[in-house]
Amino acid sequence: MGKKVKKKQRIRKRAGKKKKHKKKTYVVSKFYKVEDGKIIRSRKFCPVCGPGVFLADHGDRLSCGRCGYTEWKKAPAVAKAR
Ligand SMILES: [Zn+2]
Repeated sequence: MGKKVKKKQRIRKRAGKKKKHKKKTYVVSKFYKVEDGKIIRSRKFCPVCGPGVFLADHGDRLSCGRCGYTEWKKAPAVAKAR
């Protein structure tokens, strides 16, 4: 019920020549950059899980989604005490 309008739209869409294929960028592609035929890794590997497991960028820190390892980009502002 109430899908009559949608059906009309669908037919109209199909009449269009080519379907615009949305380029799906895979998440992994964000980790690599290819420059002059060289692969540049823009992400660090997890030292615990080893190469192949990337650390997620959280702005101020990098963390591993697999083991929970966290690496701060800057030293955490905890060293003020003492
Ligand atoms: Zn890890």
